[in-house]
Amino acid sequence: MKIIAIGRNYADHVAELKNERPDEPVVFLKPDTALLRNNAPFFHPSFSEDIHHELEVVLKIDREGKFIEPQFAPKYFSEIGLGIDFTARDLQSKLKSKGLPWEKAKAFNGSAPVSSFHAKEKYNLDNLNFHLLVNGEERQRGNTHQMMFGFNELIAHVSQYFTLKKGDLIFTGTPAGVGKVAIGDHLECFLEDELILDFHVK
Ligand code: MG
Repeated sequence: MKIIAIGRNYADHVAELKNERPDEPVVFLKPDTALLRNNAPFFHPSFSEDIHHELEVVLKIDREGKFIEPQFAPKYFSEIGLGIDFTARDLQSKLKSKGLPWEKAKAFNGSAPVSSFHAKEKYNLDNLNFHLLVNGEERQRGNTHQMMFGFNELIAHVSQYFTLKKGDLIFTGTPAGVGKVAIGDHLECFLEDELILDFHVK
């Protein structure tokens, strides 16, 4: 399986990092070794002093396809969840300034904890609330209506480049409020008001 992740998809987050507003989705990949499941702890890597949490809605692909038209995109996923796109911001800034690829800052071991997945029919996908508590304090809150590129557009776009396969995950971008995590932190991620991802930084 592969993890496809979208950058700069919420205007308030683009503004907080002073990035340019993209005219098409920003796409990068993480390998399967980035995945953490079942509320497994995240081990803080020693190569960074500025690991940021990025809370994101995650789509679970359940059918193979490429060159998918936006109107058919809903047929390619039936479950959604949440994930953290952990980012070594210090390393990413260094790589970006040299025009180098981001992988070491974005795709390292354990950089993609994901929640359980839930039938999308339970939710209004265009008006979906999600939030993150760190040590009981709210750090990020988003709603999918703030996305610049919606789920269907994202699937259409990425499937022009990468064949989507059953089990692939798409991280759909983070709202504002990204920030540093430290060893000992407790992260709790809520889809609407349901706690679906709950783990510690070790
Ligand atoms: Mg992200």
